[in-house]
Amino acid sequence: MAATTDLETSTVESFRDQLRGEVLQPGDEGYDEARTVWNAMIDKEPTLVAKCEGTADVIRAVNFARELGLLTAVKGGGHNIAGKAVCDDGLLIDLSAINNVRVDPDSQTARVGGGATWGEFDHEAQAFGLATTGGIVSSTGVAGLTLGGGLGHLDRKYGLASDNLRSVEIVTADGELVHASEDENRDLFWGVRGGGGNFGIVTSFEFDLHEVGPEVLAGPIIYRYEDAADVFRFYRDFMREARDEIQCYAFFSKGSAELGLPESLHGETIFVLFPSYAGEIDEGSEVLAPLQNFGDPIADAVQPMPYTALQSFVDDRWEEGARNYWKSRFFDELTDEAIDTIVEYCDSSAPFTSVFTDGWLGGAISRPDHDATAFPHRDKAFSFTIGMRWQDPTRDDEHIAWARDFHEALEPYASDGVYVNLLDRDDSKRVPDAYGERYDRLRELKREWDPENRFRLNQNIEPAE
Ligand SMILES: Cc1cc2nc3c(=O)[nH]c(=O)nc-3n(C[C@H](O)[C@H](O)[C@H](O)COP(=O)(O)OP(=O)(O)OC[C@H]3O[C@@H](n4cnc5c(N)ncnc54)[C@H](O)[C@@H]3O)c2cc1C
Repeated sequence: MAATTDLETSTVESFRDQLRGEVLQPGDEGYDEARTVWNAMIDKEPTLVAKCEGTADVIRAVNFARELGLLTAVKGGGHNIAGKAVCDDGLLIDLSAINNVRVDPDSQTARVGGGATWGEFDHEAQAFGLATTGGIVSSTGVAGLTLGGGLGHLDRKYGLASDNLRSVEIVTADGELVHASEDENRDLFWGVRGGGGNFGIVTSFEFDLHEVGPEVLAGPIIYRYEDAADVFRFYRDFMREARDEIQCYAFFSKGSAELGLPESLHGETIFVLFPSYAGEIDEGSEVLAPLQNFGDPIADAVQPMPYTALQSFVDDRWEEGARNYWKSRFFDELTDEAIDTIVEYCDSSAPFTSVFTDGWLGGAISRPDHDATAFPHRDKAFSFTIGMRWQDPTRDDEHIAWARDFHEALEPYASDGVYVNLLDRDDSKRVPDAYGERYDRLRELKREWDPENRFRLNQNIEPAE
């Protein structure tokens, strides 16, 4: 691999001449912004940043990196918790300018650039009352989320984000632009629906859209910590039987003035249910009522809101700039013992910011043929994530140790497997676990499309030997 710090000025200049977008080096305006990702634990300095403006730029950047043997990072929305979108001493291919979203209301489809965010996607699609399953924070990238599977408020009704893909355009390791769908390069299309960015750089996604909103019923119901075990059990029983339109996230958080809670609850653990209903508001009011009527909530803010407001409801709590460490697992079922362990760990003395279920699986997620795509977890009940978030670097060890300890304590209750998009940087050994029986097929596919493992800054699937 070439030492990129030794790149000749003339080599960089000739690369610059080939691109419509900018090529940035340390010290250039925009360089620091481009290398910054959501998790402030990650601080990497690529030698060059290619700010691609279109597919031609991506092809040229891939060819340039391959010819010089440069390590290559690919940045979509930059939300990957493990910071896989950036590298030290290599070429960062920044896709953020390829954020076009073109909606065809007649065919109910959207073509979306490889660097678009869910906020940009929803802005365009909702102008026509349309949407598809997407991330619950508006600044998350469409690309990384979809390529790993894609959970969101609409998933029980419309399936994973990747289940709604019709086709992709992808730049492969040898700089070719390839189209993949059910009719063309079918195996590759299977692989990009769950296999992450391992097979190439997607410059365009084609999605199916559905009629959603413009208003939906959703919002938080907040409970005292003392009631968490009972409410958690009720939530489990309710979601096991829930119709597809209902999604509900459950999480522990800390009370604060911003949440409008009394001072006595500031800094204390609270338990929150966040239901949403992907259907008529009146119907939703009826079917969500049992959740709202259970126990003794401190606050109930379930209300009609624009779908775009739902999709950005928790943005403020998940802004870029904090240090983060996540540990995640799947569960087949949620026993009383598992709930008690979770509740015990989350008392007010614990240093966490948010510990959450990534919604409840089932519904339309569970229905497709389980081998239809590379996402292998359609039979699971839910994914549970310990999300540590803090500002002070001197507290890194404390937060990380607590999350690891909690994660270990849940092992007896958890199932195999983990959602690839929630793996942190110390989780590389869990990649085979994220794919289970599909791992060998994915390794074969990787050998076919990227035998030299040029795209390895991801939760990496090594090419089969
Ligand atoms: C605040 C927050 C909220 C989240 N909410 C959800 C959620 O609701 N549902 C859910 O399922 N997940 C969620 N996630 C997890 C999310 O799916 C992953 O972090 C995902 O990797 C983010 O994609 P990105 O494009 O923003 O990330 P990036 O860090 O830019 O990229 C992630 C990976 O994909 C590769 N990549 C990026 N763009 C492309 C491309 N165009 N072609 C090929 N490879 C590419 C990168 O190289 C990297 O390996 C959330 C994460 C955060 C931090």
